[in-house]
Amino acid sequence: MEKKELLYEGKGKRLFKTDDENLLVSEFKDDLTAFNAQKRGNEEGKGALNCKISTQLFHLLEKTGIKTHLVKTLDDSSQLIKKVQIIPLEVVVRNIATGSLTKRLGIEDGKKLPFALVEFYYKDDDLNDPLVNDEHCLMMDLVKSETDLEELKRLGREINSTLKGFFEKRGLNLVDFKVEFGIDKEGNILLADEISPDSCRFWDAETNEKLDKDRFRQGLGDVKVAYEEILRRILEK
Ligand code: UDP
Repeated sequence: MEKKELLYEGKGKRLFKTDDENLLVSEFKDDLTAFNAQKRGNEEGKGALNCKISTQLFHLLEKTGIKTHLVKTLDDSSQLIKKVQIIPLEVVVRNIATGSLTKRLGIEDGKKLPFALVEFYYKDDDLNDPLVNDEHCLMMDLVKSETDLEELKRLGREINSTLKGFFEKRGLNLVDFKVEFGIDKEGNILLADEISPDSCRFWDAETNEKLDKDRFRQGLGDVKVAYEEILRRILEK
C-alpha cells in the first residue's frame, strides 16, 4: 500500500489517498483546538496517543459487533482506514451534564442524567455546528431516511454502554462523547473518525479530575500527562 497525496486536512487529522481508491491513511496531528479553533495549541506526541487510544477503543467496539472504518494501524500516529462518505452529523451521547448542555438548558454541572442522552449536531464550522433535531436532519437530507437516524441513535447508545462500562472498571466516568459515522461503498454505516480524549470527556471517578481536552480548553495544564493516563488505564487488564 502506497501513501499518496493529501486529500483533506481537518483540526485533528490529515487524510491521504493511497493506491487503493477504497482506502485512506489517517494521520493524527499534535494540534489542539478549542471553541471552533479560536484557541490553538500543540502537544508533541498527542497525535500518537490519540491514535493508540482510538485504535484500542475501535477494536473493543468491533468485538461487540460495531462496524468501523479501521483496517489496521500503520505506525504510532497513523491508521489505514476504509474510505467512507461522512454523514455530516456529530452524534453526541451524554451521561453527565456539562459543557453546552448545561449552558443551553441550565442543568446543574455534574448532574447525572436519568438516561443516556443522544443529540445530533450539524457539522458546519461556519454555523458553529448547531444542534439539530430529527426533522432538521431529514429536511436538510443529512441522512437518507428516518431508519438511518434511528440506527445512528442505536449505535450511539450501544457504543456508550460498552465504553461506559469499560471505563467504570478503570476508575473513569465517561461524561460524554462525540462520534461520527460514514457510509461505505456497500452502503453500510461504519463508525468513523476517532474516539479519544479530544472527543470524549473523562472524569476520574474518585477525584472528578478532568483527563481530556478540557484540560487544554480550561488552561489546566498537563494535557499530555492526562492523555497518557487514559491510555494506561485502557491497557490495564
Ligand atoms: N465534541 C467534539 N467535537 C466538537 C464538539 C463536541 O468532540 O466539535 C465532544 C466534546 O469533547 C464532548 C461532547 O462532544 O465530549 C459534548 O460537547 P459539548 O456539546 O458539551 O460542547 P463543548 O462544551 O465541548 O463545546
